[in-house]
Amino acid sequence: MKLEGFSHPRSIEEALAVLAGAPGEARPLAGGTAVVPMADRRARVLVDLSRAGLDTVVLEGDTLRLGATATLDAVARGKAVTDAGLDALVDAAGAAASRRLRRQITLGGNLVGLYPWSDPVPALVVLGAVVRVRSAAGQRDVPIDDFVARHPSKVLQPGELVTEIRVPRAAARTGSAFLKFARSAVDYALCGAAARLRLDGDVVREARVAVGALRPLPMRLAAAEQALVGKAPDPATLVAAAAAGAAEAEVSADFRASVEYRREVCGVLVRRVLETAARRAAGRSA
Ligand SMILES: Cc1cc2nc3c(=O)[nH]c(=O)nc-3n(C[C@H](O)[C@H](O)[C@H](O)COP(=O)(O)OP(=O)(O)OC[C@H]3O[C@@H](n4cnc5c(N)ncnc54)[C@H](O)[C@@H]3O)c2cc1C
Repeated sequence: MKLEGFSHPRSIEEALAVLAGAPGEARPLAGGTAVVPMADRRARVLVDLSRAGLDTVVLEGDTLRLGATATLDAVARGKAVTDAGLDALVDAAGAAASRRLRRQITLGGNLVGLYPWSDPVPALVVLGAVVRVRSAAGQRDVPIDDFVARHPSKVLQPGELVTEIRVPRAAARTGSAFLKFARSAVDYALCGAAARLRLDGDVVREARVAVGALRPLPMRLAAAEQALVGKAPDPATLVAAAAAGAAEAEVSADFRASVEYRREVCGVLVRRVLETAARRAAGRSA
């Protein structure tokens, strides 16, 4: 990078003003674990967000507010996240990279960079997160499904910052889970799977299932979700839903694994997250 400036804003407003003052040339710097090694040659100014007051992890009413620079470690170990009943997010943030890296990687950087292996993202998708985006001109809230339908770099306009990720508290009889499969504990995922189930009596009333790492962007598995709604989450239903999900998943190959291997892993992971989400849902009262 040929940098001409490095800014340390003390507030969101200051950060937004710096970004607005150097359109196309200023880059937010969060954990720096991607921005630094990937060395964007067009970047002239780095805007370090670490002192801009964006590291909140707080449950306010029925909304968990996660500041964009909250680290994955702070999310995985945050009492507010557990209190909100958002187990899939705890699982996913705690599964990314190594503990040392999790203390550096931020939730906002992980989401905006959106790498195929971004573990927390499928969890945010099933949990129905909303991404708060601000610029010097104003603020907008983008539902996570829209935020990751294309790469976020195409969703964000120059000068826009993700300031917060807002996640609704889990309702009663709602359980969620995330699992990843990788060649080692610190390798990138070959596949990640997340699910959230809401029970009504003994029947699944609402289901959200998403996978990551199978293609560049995460994907909701609509056929798996449809195979669950209105049915008891018994083993046969979960196996059938997982098979439907594995069949519909769009899968790419890379040097780590073939399409066939990834699809096989996808079916197993989806079944396992459904089992865990169903068990957690049954154990969660109002
Ligand atoms: C060895 C290694 C292993 C890893 N393994 C995993 C893994 O298994 N699972 C996983 O999920 N992740 C993993 N990661 C992390 C992942 O690859 C990225 O490096 C990380 O998510 C980037 O987050 P960051 O906070 O460091 O962001 P940065 O590197 O600071 O920024 C990333 C991008 O997002 C932009 N940006 C950052 N914050 C904002 C914001 N608030 N608003 C707008 N734009 C913003 C930056 O300008 C940049 O373009 C690993 C990283 C390393 C180095």
